[in-house]
Amino acid sequence: MSAYPSFREHIAQINDLLNVFNILNWDSHTQMPHGGAETRGHQLATIVQLAQERFASDTTARLLDAVEAEVEDDDYYSYRRREVQNTRWAYDIARRIPAALMSKIVGLRPTAEQAWVDAKKHNDFTRFAPYLTQAFDYQKQLAEAIGYVDHPYDALLLRYEPEMNVERLRHLFDIMKGTLLPLLQNIVAKGDVVRSDFLYGDFDEAKQREFALGVAQQFGYDLNRGRLDVSAHPFEVSFTRNDVRITTRYQRNYLPGALFGVLHEAGHALYEQGASIELTRTALTTDFLGNYAVAGVSFGAHESQSRLWENQVGRSRAFWQLHFPRLQSHFASQLAGVDAESFYRAVNRVRPSFIRVEADEMTYNFHIMLRVEIEIGLLDGSIKVSDLPELWRAKMQEYLGVTPPTDTLGVLQDIHWAMASIGSFCTYTVGNVMSGQWMAAARREVDGLDTALANGHYAPLLGWLTDNIYRHARAFSPNELLIRATGEPLNPDAYLGYLVEKYTDIYK
Ligand code: ZN
Repeated sequence: MSAYPSFREHIAQINDLLNVFNILNWDSHTQMPHGGAETRGHQLATIVQLAQERFASDTTARLLDAVEAEVEDDDYYSYRRREVQNTRWAYDIARRIPAALMSKIVGLRPTAEQAWVDAKKHNDFTRFAPYLTQAFDYQKQLAEAIGYVDHPYDALLLRYEPEMNVERLRHLFDIMKGTLLPLLQNIVAKGDVVRSDFLYGDFDEAKQREFALGVAQQFGYDLNRGRLDVSAHPFEVSFTRNDVRITTRYQRNYLPGALFGVLHEAGHALYEQGASIELTRTALTTDFLGNYAVAGVSFGAHESQSRLWENQVGRSRAFWQLHFPRLQSHFASQLAGVDAESFYRAVNRVRPSFIRVEADEMTYNFHIMLRVEIEIGLLDGSIKVSDLPELWRAKMQEYLGVTPPTDTLGVLQDIHWAMASIGSFCTYTVGNVMSGQWMAAARREVDGLDTALANGHYAPLLGWLTDNIYRHARAFSPNELLIRATGEPLNPDAYLGYLVEKYTDIYK
């Protein structure tokens, strides 16, 4: 008798638990009254613990042993074989992580986050430093428990971007710096030649929503299986492909915030909605190590889709030539006298700044490299926590030519380290790089793609992305997807070419 149905049902229930976790999490960021926070925290912790216990159990081991023998002769790329392979991979790692260490890491978070808020408020890094030291100490222990060949950071990357390691990241960053540093210096030398004052004003929220959601639907975001809500920090979350939700935050005084935010999250949502129906409630829509029900195969692959739709499509000249008249009719007085070309240039304005989340498409990558280089150094001991504020200022000056006047605007700006989320920053730049490869390959393979996009026909692009990426969910690794669809693994050439062409044109 085949063990496969039992294996599948066992995994399906873990996937159900993690989808319930997602729903509770979505609710706590969009609907829940403040008073619900404490008990909701318990509910979330209980659900994750149930999922973890079920996954790291002897039952999983027994079922894996049985089904591995059954799928041995399946095609190497078959979904069934991949379900089993992925589950084995995650199971072996999960079993190496001591529960006591995980509870120390989780337990440090609330006090570390408090210390971070306090330090940021008072511009006093020393209030956060001891917690940061402790957090990285736990991460070193985690890396040792998981195991690695060359660098402890490699072990932490497994959860976010399994095919990346320190050596590959350094190589990637070197290539990117070689092209982007001189390009940025040339742009900065031009001075402030791109007008953007009309992006600031008073923009009715309902109109912002109507326009942005309308575009997301044109991209292919299916509202029968999705919805848009408001939250303090925008996100996308799925409870299977049949219910994929996005959130945004409206800034009344700044038009691009919610607009591009919605296109970004819609890009994430298209990935989740595009997963093949047969993969629902399987190992191929479950991130066992991250304790997350998700179809996207890695954080970087997910970001590649949000950034493709937001930037490669949504910040293109063709996009604004088509859509600007409609935006202008929504905001006739604010955008009076502005034309599509001026608007296109304004939303692509490059300006080095202190804050990562406010950075433009190009300088963003430097904010990421800086953080990743610091994380790597903190983990291997080549950088000390006490050196961070000064090192941060030096690297900001080196990469972006600006020096933050305070630590609040510098090393203390992100919550990630207080949350023990170490190893995830690189996925933003990996996603950017992949987005360039996908778009270049789609242009090669889909006849008349640019004409279709210029006419607002997004189905050919969505179809290509669905065929090559979305429908497979987590069945193939990012590099497998890239090689199958573009002929080569992660390679920054297409993305760098895109940036050089775009900004050379805008800044002459
Ligand atoms: Zn994103």
